[in-house]
Parts: sequence; structure tokens; C-alpha cells
Amino acid sequence: MTNTAYILLGSNLGDRNKYLSSAMAMIKKIPGLKHCGSSSVYSSKAEQMACGTPSFLNQAIKINTELSSFELLTALEKIEKALDRTDKGKQLSRTIDLDILLYDTEIINAERLTIPHPELLNRAFALIPLIEIDPRLVHPLTNKRLKDYLNDEDFKLVRQKEENAPAGY
Ligand code: ADP
Ligand code: MG
Repeated sequence: MTNTAYILLGSNLGDRNKYLSSAMAMIKKIPGLKHCGSSSVYSSKAEQMACGTPSFLNQAIKINTELSSFELLTALEKIEKALDRTDKGKQLSRTIDLDILLYDTEIINAERLTIPHPELLNRAFALIPLIEIDPRLVHPLTNKRLKDYLNDEDFKLVRQKEENAPAGY
């Protein structure tokens, strides 16, 4: 299992905890994939989405895999479908979203797949779980530490779920 990848799980519709844990269990069962670590579950308000959109739960996982990045995306899309995901490609609430954040230090700009994930550096809800797993991770395009893209405000907005976040989170 030569390749290391990081996946972000996200849910803001239905039983969000159940969708995250089901997706995690299904990812662990993908042939040719080994689970190497998971972050805590984080909660944050929906960004750049319609007013009143339910808040998100997010969790990052680290895997080793024999699958290519495109094979991995196909496997993740199957899991999204099995977990009631509809309306891909729109800024809508979703039962489950599975995004590949990093795949080794590969840089891919294809129609179906962009790696590193194009929004990674703009999304504290992706960066914070990611650096919980590996605090020294570096962005393959900028060669800067991912943790250097975060500030105190980001950590106030993206909270570990165990912290009894206030209503609305
Ligand atoms: P988003 O995750 O940005 O809310 P979607 O989950 O609806 O959007 O995915 C939109 C498209 O993004 C998918 O059809 C997929 O092919 C593409 N895509 C590009 N790069 C990635 C990536 N790194 N991980 C997952 N999907 C990606
Ligand atoms: Mg997605």
C-alpha cells in the first residue's frame, strides 16, 4: 500500500453522526485500502450556503492505498451514492460528502479530479481536522505548512464536537 491519502468526510443533512460513521466503516472496507488514522469530529456553520442551512460535521481520515487517485474517487462516489447523496456539484445540503484532500504530493488538474483539493487552503473545516492527524503536513503546491494557513478565529469557528458546542453548531 504505497500511497498515502487524506479524505474529508462531511455531512449536514439527516442523522449526520450516522452518515459519518457509516461512511467511515464503508471506506475501511474498500479493497486495497488501509485506514491509518482519523481526526476528531468537528462542527462548523455552513459557509457560502443559503441562510438557515444546517451546520456541518466534518472528520478527516488518513489512508494507505494501492488504488490510484481516480480509482479512489470512484470508490468514494459509490459510497456517497449508497448513503443517499444526491445533487452533486451544487452548493446544497448533503447527507455525505467525501473529498480527497491530498494524495501523496501529487498535483492533478483533471475535469473529474483536482488534487490538492482546490478549496483546501480556504477551508478551516478541512485544514483543522487534517492537521490534527498530521500537524507537519505541507501543501504540495506552496510548500508551506498547512497549519500556517490557520488563525485563532478559525479555531473558534470550527470546534471539536465533544466540546458541547452551543445550539446551532
Ligand atoms: P463539493 O465537494 O465541492 O461540495 P461535490 O461533492 O458536489 O462538490 O463534487 C463536485 C465534483 O468535484 C465531483 O463531481 C468530483 O468529480 C469533483 N472533484 C474534483 N476534485 C475532487 C476531489 N479532490 N475530491 C472529490 N471530488 C472532487
Ligand atoms: Mg465533494
